[in-house]
Amino acid sequence: MAEDCLFCRIAGGETNTEFLMETDKLVVFEDINPLAPVHLLLVPKQHIRSVNDLTEQDREILADLIFAARDMAPKMGVDSTGYRLFFNVEKGGGQEIFHLHMHMIGGWES
Ligand code: 5GP
Ligand code: ZN
Repeated sequence: MAEDCLFCRIAGGETNTEFLMETDKLVVFEDINPLAPVHLLLVPKQHIRSVNDLTEQDREILADLIFAARDMAPKMGVDSTGYRLFFNVEKGGGQEIFHLHMHMIGGWES
């Protein structure tokens, strides 16, 4: 766990953030400042700063994030209406929390 990392603390269960999904490798929770009716953050428990810092060993967790989104989609009612998955990468890419996370947004009228 990286010192002073908000998402390490959240993923480690050190805050009162409610998890919509938790596995041994990742957690899923709602974004505190949603950009859409559904806005989830899919966060590895392992501290990885950004997409730039991914290594070959991280292939499995990346796949796990996508499959977690697939599993959350029907639970959030967005599987048929559709959704976006994205990573912000470093400051110029809009990243504000430097612990890898994938955004899942959707729920607009289709
Ligand atoms: P980034 O801009 O780094 O890609 O996304 C960080 C996201 O984390 C933002 O959408 C922001 O609203 C969200 N966020 C920041 N602090 C918290 C928090 O304490 N709890 C939750 N649930 N989301 C947070
Ligand atoms: Zn972290």
